Amino acid sequence: MSDDQMQKIVSLCKRRGFVFQSSDIYGGLRSAYDYGPLGVELKRNIAQEWWRRMVHEREDVVGLDASIIMHPKVWEASGHLSGFSDPLVDCKVCKSRFRADHAPEVSEGDAVEITLPDKGKAKAALIQIQEQFGVEVTRSKRTLSGAVAGDRGYVCPTCNSPFMSEERQFNLMFRTSLGPVDPLGRIAAAIESGDLADLDTRALRTKLTDLAAESAVYLRPETAQAMFVQFLNIQRSMSLKVPFGIAQQGRSFRNEITTEHFIFRSCEFDQMEMEFFVEPGTDDEWMEYWTNERMTWWKRYSNEPERFRLRPHAPDELAHYAKGCFDIEYLYPWGWGELEGIANRTDYDLGKHAKASKTKIEYFDQEKNKKYVPFVIEPAAGLTRGLLVYLLDAYTEETVTNSKGKEETRVVMRFHPRLAPVKVAVLPLVKKDGMPEKAREIVEAFLAEGINASYDQQHAIGRRYRRHDEIGTPFCLTVDGDTLQDGTITIRDRDTMEQRRISVSDAVSEIRALLAV
Ligand code: ATP
Repeated sequence: MSDDQMQKIVSLCKRRGFVFQSSDIYGGLRSAYDYGPLGVELKRNIAQEWWRRMVHEREDVVGLDASIIMHPKVWEASGHLSGFSDPLVDCKVCKSRFRADHAPEVSEGDAVEITLPDKGKAKAALIQIQEQFGVEVTRSKRTLSGAVAGDRGYVCPTCNSPFMSEERQFNLMFRTSLGPVDPLGRIAAAIESGDLADLDTRALRTKLTDLAAESAVYLRPETAQAMFVQFLNIQRSMSLKVPFGIAQQGRSFRNEITTEHFIFRSCEFDQMEMEFFVEPGTDDEWMEYWTNERMTWWKRYSNEPERFRLRPHAPDELAHYAKGCFDIEYLYPWGWGELEGIANRTDYDLGKHAKASKTKIEYFDQEKNKKYVPFVIEPAAGLTRGLLVYLLDAYTEETVTNSKGKEETRVVMRFHPRLAPVKVAVLPLVKKDGMPEKAREIVEAFLAEGINASYDQQHAIGRRYRRHDEIGTPFCLTVDGDTLQDGTITIRDRDTMEQRRISVSDAVSEIRALLAV
């Protein structure tokens, strides 16, 4: 699939009511999207299939629906907050990100020795430093000599390099304020009092952040933290025994620097995450289990399972707290990219929250008579990103011959029947002779059974079939003259376009069986 086909999907999404640009009539809001009548159905179906597999079909996973705004201390403990008032810098040599105000201080012109984790990385860094920064350095084992500190007054705390990005005051979290007191009022009062007059840029920023911080709260950048924070309440209230999991679906918000590829990366998106708590020592086995389980789940609804792959993170790519991480990647039109991350987060999160909240977060295993802090395996998937994947997976163009013998292009969204927004369309062949009434009766029978059916009498039957192909309706039922005579109806399969007759009285049970795949 090319970028051109990506454009076709974006336009199909708008034309057929899947996804619209947010605030479209005002010129649109960058990086925010609205899910239209068919998009919301598709999204709910994906979410429902995930919930069914992850929660309802298992005894060892329970659900949670937590608030989007949490105590600001949650984000302090999780590490998400550092960076709001702190200048962040990226080391161009070892790629670590650090706070400038916590970095080791040096004077301009001081000789610095850059130390890398191994000889191989030191060799690569030597070439990079010479080529990118034009500085001649020499290597002894994993240490490079010959670089000098610049005027920044600090070097990288990890490798000692003086080669780094500009300082940036940036955090991905959206900040807002809770309560009736407007932080702008406090800031205005501080300005009026003259207290801010002599501060330099960095001190001024710190002061203003402190003034805002009194009532500051954040929109969650992931759903995961609530599962750690509520670990004790959930474990105790449900008397759960390790291993067990807590699952959650919901909105997350990230002030992404670059939003890209339609709904692939947006500022507001939905996630489906599960934290599975296990006894330390069993974590590797569970990691393997969940990686396979999640991969199987994504492929189950796909027409092209070979476009999914599992990619282990290289050691230098791992988050500092993670013992292992796999990405489930999809082959998007622009190349392989992440769809879901599965990480062994060890006891890092429970440990951090225990320390910050001064709460003992432990599990007592009665059978083994021992206490421990569980390790956690986290499969973290994007729901809206998954929706894009299934749109890409479903989109097909075929050349077919129409009733007038002419070749035309048939666009078919080959959604898995369980994901399809509309399950069955009921079409009267013509708008007369009692056919519309009969068709409406059949639609009502489906709706009464909770099967999303749609009545459609607009335009010639061929055009109606094409419309339903384009929105991925797996089955069309056509009421014709014979229906009223012999109680039979035509059922048309979206993918093969084959038609056969079935009895009207069997229609609901037939479709239900076809959907139970
Ligand atoms: P990426 O590397 O693509 O930024 P991430 O590693 O930061 O993703 P996680 O924090 O692991 O992502 O979040 C889990 C999942 O949530 C991702 O695999 C992705 O499907 C989804 N996700 C994360 N950020 C976004 C976003 N800005 N827009 C849409 N989905 C997202």
